[in-house]
Amino acid sequence: MSGKRIGLRWRVALAFTVAFTLMMCALGFTLFTAFEEMEDTLVERLMNDEVNFMIERLRENPRLATPANPHLKAYLIRTPADGHSLPDYLRRLGIGQHEVYEGGNEIHVAVRDVSGGRLYVAYDVSLFQKREQQFLVLLGLSLFAVIGVSLTLGYWLSGVLVKQITTLAETVDRLRPGELRQPLAQPGQEAEVTQLARAFDNYQARLDELLRREQEFTANASHELRTPLTAIRTSCELLAADNGLSVKSAQRVASIAKAARRMSTEIEALLLLAREQATDENQTEAVREIVDDALEPYRAELRERNLGIKLDIAPDAVLTLNTRALQLVLSNLLRNAIQYTPQGHIGVRYRDGTLEISDTGTGIVADKLEQVFERYYRGNGASPGGMGLGLSIVKRICDQFGWRVSAASTVNQGSIFTLNFFDKNDNSTK
Ligand code: ADP
Repeated sequence: MSGKRIGLRWRVALAFTVAFTLMMCALGFTLFTAFEEMEDTLVERLMNDEVNFMIERLRENPRLATPANPHLKAYLIRTPADGHSLPDYLRRLGIGQHEVYEGGNEIHVAVRDVSGGRLYVAYDVSLFQKREQQFLVLLGLSLFAVIGVSLTLGYWLSGVLVKQITTLAETVDRLRPGELRQPLAQPGQEAEVTQLARAFDNYQARLDELLRREQEFTANASHELRTPLTAIRTSCELLAADNGLSVKSAQRVASIAKAARRMSTEIEALLLLAREQATDENQTEAVREIVDDALEPYRAELRERNLGIKLDIAPDAVLTLNTRALQLVLSNLLRNAIQYTPQGHIGVRYRDGTLEISDTGTGIVADKLEQVFERYYRGNGASPGGMGLGLSIVKRICDQFGWRVSAASTVNQGSIFTLNFFDKNDNSTK
C-alpha cells in the first residue's frame, strides 16, 4: 500500500484478527504447556505404579518372569549372565529415573535395586509424543481458522458499522449549496452518526445563509449600479452626437462609452451568476443570430482596426440554452480576441454543439493556458483596461450551465477558445 492509508473497515478487521490471534496463541500456549506437564506427571506416575507393583510381585514370588508389552519393558538382572539380555541403552544407566532416546523414540527408564537383583523398567513414550505433535498440528490449524474467521467476521462487522458513515458521505457528496434537501440526520442512525449528520446540517445551513447573502448583495449591487451606468451611456451617446465636440473630446467620450459598455456586460454577468433559477431560462435560437448579437458592440472597432471577421456557422444551426448567458460568454471571448489581435482576423465556427472563437493574435504561452481562467490572472501583454476577470467569469458561467470551455494557443500565431455545450447539456441541436 504505497503511501495510501488503509480504510477504517480494514483496520477494524485487522485489529479484530490480531486480537483473536493473540488470544488464540496465548490459549494454545497454555494448553500445550498444561498438556506437556500432564504427560510428564502421568508417565512418572505410571512408571512408579508399575515399578512398585513389580517389586511387590517379586517379593511374593522371586522367580516371576518380568512382563513385556510393546510400550513397557522390565528387566530383572539377578546374575551377571542376566546382564546380556539387557539392551545396550539400559546398560550404562545407574539407579534412578532417566530419559533416553533410542531409535528416535523417547524412553523413560527407572532403575531400582530390589531384593534379588536390579530392576530396569523402560517405558516408551513415543505414543504420547505423537499425540503431542497431533495436538500441535491441530493448534496450528485452529490458528489459521481463527485468522480466517476473525478477518471475515471483522470485515463484515466493521462494514455494518461504517455503512451509515459511507452512506452519509455519499449523501454529503451529492449536496449542492442552496438546493432544497432532506436533513441528513435521520431516525434510525447510530448516535455518533446522528451527531455527525447534525454537524453537517448545521454547517450546510450556515453555507446556505452565506450563499443567500452573497447572492442578495451581488443582485443589489448590480442593480444599483445599472441605473448610473445607463445614465453615463446615454450622456455619452448625446455628447457623441454633438458636432461641436473637438476630436480629442470625441475620443474621450468614445472611451468612456466603451468602458461603460464593458461595465454593463460585467454587471449583467454578475446578476446572471447571482440568480439561482438562471439555468431554467432556456430559449431556442439560431447560433448565427446569437453570435451576431454578441459581435454587434465590436463591429465599429473591428472596422477601425481593419480586423477581418470570418464566420463559419450553418444558417439552420440552433441552440437551446440560456442565450443571455451565452451572449455574455461570447462577448468576453470576442473582446479578448479583438484586444489581443494586432492584425489579421477573428473567426467564429460552429459544429455539432461546439463553438470556436479563434484569432490571429499574440497567443498565450502553453504553460499559462490553464491559468488564464483564474481570477485576476493577466498575461504579460495584457490590455491596460482589463482586470483579469473576463475569463474567470466565462469559466464560472460555463460551470453553472454545464458547458465546457478550453483554450489552445500558439504564441504569435493566435488562440482558439472552444465552448462545448454537449458535455453535460443535451439541449443543443445540430
Ligand atoms: P483581461 O481583463 O486581462 O483581458 P481576462 O480574464 O479576459 O482578463 O484574460 C486573462 C489573460 O488571458 C489576459 O490578460 C491575457 O493575457 C490572456 N488572454 C485572454 N484571451 C486572450 C487571447 N485571445 N489572446 C491572447 N491572450 C489572451
